[in-house]
Amino acid sequence: MTRVVVVGGGIGGLAAAARLAHSGYHVTLLEQREHLGGRTGQLQREGFRFDTGPTLLMMLEPLEKLYRDLNQRMEDYLQPVLLSPSYRVFYADGTRFDSSPCIAHMVREIAQKISPAEVPGYLRLMADLSGMLHDVVPAFVRRNYRSPLDLLGAKQISLLVKHRLLANLFRRIRRYVQSPRLQMLFTFQTMYLGLSPLEAPWVYAILTYMESGEGVWFPRGGVYQLVHALERLAHEEGVQIRTGERVQQVLVEAGRATGVRLASGEVLQADVVVLNTDVPTAYASLLPQNRQSHRRWRNSCSALVFCIGYEGKLPQLLHHNVHFSADFERNLQEIFVEKIVPEDPSFYTCLSVRTEPSDAPDGCENLYVLVPVPNRSGQDASALKQQVLERVLGRLEREVGFCRQRIRFVQSLSPADWEAMGLWQGAAFGLSHHFWQSTCFRPSNRAPFGGVYFVGASTVPGNGIPMVLISAELVQQRIEQEVGLRVTK
Ligand SMILES: Cc1cc2nc3c(=O)[nH]c(=O)nc-3n(C[C@H](O)[C@H](O)[C@H](O)COP(=O)(O)OP(=O)(O)OC[C@H]3O[C@@H](n4cnc5c(N)ncnc54)[C@H](O)[C@@H]3O)c2cc1C
Repeated sequence: MTRVVVVGGGIGGLAAAARLAHSGYHVTLLEQREHLGGRTGQLQREGFRFDTGPTLLMMLEPLEKLYRDLNQRMEDYLQPVLLSPSYRVFYADGTRFDSSPCIAHMVREIAQKISPAEVPGYLRLMADLSGMLHDVVPAFVRRNYRSPLDLLGAKQISLLVKHRLLANLFRRIRRYVQSPRLQMLFTFQTMYLGLSPLEAPWVYAILTYMESGEGVWFPRGGVYQLVHALERLAHEEGVQIRTGERVQQVLVEAGRATGVRLASGEVLQADVVVLNTDVPTAYASLLPQNRQSHRRWRNSCSALVFCIGYEGKLPQLLHHNVHFSADFERNLQEIFVEKIVPEDPSFYTCLSVRTEPSDAPDGCENLYVLVPVPNRSGQDASALKQQVLERVLGRLEREVGFCRQRIRFVQSLSPADWEAMGLWQGAAFGLSHHFWQSTCFRPSNRAPFGGVYFVGASTVPGNGIPMVLISAELVQQRIEQEVGLRVTK
C-alpha cells in the first residue's frame, strides 16, 4: 500500500490527509504540538474561550466540496452561521458603518452614512466582482501549474484583459467609489493575506466580494470547531494521527523521498511526504539543499493578538469590528515599507460571545484584538506589544467606553510566537501574495524531490482557510496523477 506521511496538522494537513486516505493511501499525520490546528488555535481560560488565529470563515464552497468529495455533508460536522451585519467599522472621524452581505442594508447604510451618490458605484462593484470571482477561481486559483507558460493560455489572457486583473487595487477602486471611507472599506480585505491594498493587484478584490457579496460565517462553538470537524473526518477515513511528534528531517535517497526522521530519532518510512509546514522553513531545515533553499522569498506582515477577559459589557461592539487609523495609507506605509510598529494602528476586534454566549461568563466579554504589525525582518513588535496595547485600549476607551479596571487578564501572541510555530520571520500570514509569489510563481506544491509535496498557506493557491482547503484538493490531484495508487483499500 502506498504510504503517505503528512507533516503538520494545520487545516491544510488535516484536509489533505483525509482526502488521501479516502483515495486509498495509508496515511499517517505527524503534528509537533500536543494539539491540532496550527494557526487555527483556541485559548480557554477562567470561563472564557477565544479563537486565537482565524475568527471568521468566508467562501464556504471549498469546505462543502471537501465533505461532498468524501461522500459526507458538511452540516453533519459543522454548523456555520451567517452574520449580518458582518462587522461594524469605526472610522477615526467618529462615523460608524455596519457592513453586510445584504444589498438592501448596504444601500441604506451608504446613502445615510456616506452619500446617496455612492450607491450606484457600490452596486456596479458587487456585480463586477461577482463575475470576476466566478471567472478567476477556476482559471487561476483551483489550478495546478506546470510552468509560467500556463498563465499565457488564451483563456487566461482574455480574463486578465477583461477584468484588468493586474491593475492596482487601491487606484482602481476609485472607478467605483469616491469616498475615502468606502475606498478603505472595499480594499482593506487584502490585509487578511498580510498584503497591503496599496500594492495589491485588482484580482484580490475577489476577497472584497467573498466578504461583502457572499458574507462572513461563524461556526457554532467557534472557528476551532473546524479543527475538530476535520480531525473527525480524517479519523473516519482511517488516518493515523500522532501529536507531539516533531519531524526533524525528510529522508531523501537518489532524489526520492523514503520517509521522515522524528526529533525522537524514530524513522518512519514513506513513499510520499506531504509537508504542511511553512515552505521557506521546510527548504531551510527539513529538506536537502537545492536551488529553492537559496530563493529570496518575500514575507507578509505579522500580527499582535491580544485575548482580553473583560468583566463588563461593551454593547457598541458587534461580533466583528474594524477600527481604521486616522491615516490609513500612512498606517500601511509603516507596516509594509518602513517596517515599523504603527503610531496610530488600524486594528480588528472580535467578541464571539455575541454569537456564542458560552464563550464568556455571564456579564463578561471575550475581547480579541488583532493589530497588523511588521514581521521580524523589521522593528520587533514582540518587544513593543505593551505600547501597542496601550494605544489600542486608549482608542477603545474613547470609542466604546472600555474601562481598564475591568480587565481580568490579557494573553498575547506576538511575531516571536508565530516564529516559534515554524513561520519564517514570524510572518503570521506566511509568504507574501505579491505578483511574483502568486499563481504559477508561488512555491509549487511539488518539491524538486520525487514524492515530496506541500499543502497549506505558503504553496498554491495561498493563505486563508478557503485557499488552504483548495490547496488540499490540488495536492491530492497531483499525487494521484504522479504517484498513483499501488493498492486500494
Ligand atoms: C492571527 C491570524 C488570523 C487569521 N484570521 C483568519 C480568518 O479570520 N479567516 C481565514 O480564513 N484565515 C485566517 N488566517 C489565516 C489562516 O489561519 C491560515 O491560512 C491557515 O490556518 C493556515 O493553515 P495551514 O494548514 O497552511 O498551516 P498552519 O496552520 O500553519 O499549520 C501548520 C502545522 O504544521 C505543524 N508543523 C510545523 N513544522 C512541523 C514539524 N517539523 N513537524 C511536525 N509538525 C510541524 C505546526 O505545528 C502546525 O500545526 C489567520 C491567520 C492568523 C495568524
